Amino acid sequence: QQNVLNVVDLTVYYYTKRGVIHAVEDVSLTADKMDFVAIVGESGSGKSTLVYALLNLVPPPGRIVKGSIFVDGIDILRLSGDKLRRARGSLISMVFQDPFTTLDPIRRVGDQIAEVLIEHGISKDEAYARVGEVLESVGLSRNIANAYPHQLSGGQRQRVSIAAAIALNPRVLVADEPTTALDVIVQKQIMDLIDRIRLSTGMSIILITHDIALAVERATKIVVMYAGKIVEYGSKQSIIEEPLHPYTQALLASVPDIESGKWPKSIPGTPPDLRNPPTGCRFHPRCPYSSDLCRIKQPDLVGYGKNHYVSCWLYIRK
Ligand code: ATP
Ligand code: SF4
Ligand code: MG
Repeated sequence: QQNVLNVVDLTVYYYTKRGVIHAVEDVSLTADKMDFVAIVGESGSGKSTLVYALLNLVPPPGRIVKGSIFVDGIDILRLSGDKLRRARGSLISMVFQDPFTTLDPIRRVGDQIAEVLIEHGISKDEAYARVGEVLESVGLSRNIANAYPHQLSGGQRQRVSIAAAIALNPRVLVADEPTTALDVIVQKQIMDLIDRIRLSTGMSIILITHDIALAVERATKIVVMYAGKIVEYGSKQSIIEEPLHPYTQALLASVPDIESGKWPKSIPGTPPDLRNPPTGCRFHPRCPYSSDLCRIKQPDLVGYGKNHYVSCWLYIRK
């Protein structure tokens, strides 16, 4: 059985004047149809870099150093030019934190959605018919097509961005904190919308969030990143019931009430400088269980039980 999304050994560096930032290193993960993958981890852990890489959209001075990203068996990183443009939108597409990064302020939103469709070879008539349909599917009325972005509320704008992202029925929808700019009630409405799209179309959702309650409520899988690496990854159930990695445990332990809590802003110690990440396990300077081996040798991400992976020497037979 083939996964819809299969990320293999993805490594992304930023080549800055002040050094090479190891933002994402040897990341592998999969998502199936209808999976809702929540990516969590503190600021600077490489979450955004990872999801931009999924669309081969890492901005300079970033570069994908190695890896593969298969969507429906097609490696996004081996595509270029027209083929890559066509894959974005029809295989995998993205909703950004701030809809203004995707919406042009001086053009009607309907024209902007139609343009995406026309670029993918759909006739003008068909494209405009689809615009009405897709606007309704995100809970907006058809005549929103005639509006300019500034005439819409933040929530409406994010709905328009989602409409543009799903207009071509991609297999995977990626979202980088899509609701942080919105108030709490609208946040919930947008998350409900994303969930409804997932269930009605079977799209896989990859979502970055700082909100543990959201991850617990909505996700089917949780990916925990630390310093550019996945330290733990598995079904939501297994991560919540049996967090294995000391970092995941610290995150969960510092949440007083998982039902309503947020990911803590920080845990003791400072996040590492990714120009010169710690040797061995990158978490070792902050880990209460670290041993000599942890300081010297990096633990692989290994399976532990069903649908549960962890990168920690505590779980590897030496
Ligand atoms: P946040 O939660 O704050 O959004 P993040 O987990 O999304 O953080 P990234 O934005 O992916 O983290 O950053 C990972 C590392 O790459 C950080 O050290 C960051 O400083 C660096 N980085 C990100 N974007 C760039 C860039 N355009 N140029 C140089 N370095 C970058
Ligand atoms: Fe801690 Fe060692 Fe596990 Fe890293 S490998 S999390 S340092 S015990
Ligand atoms: Mg980010």
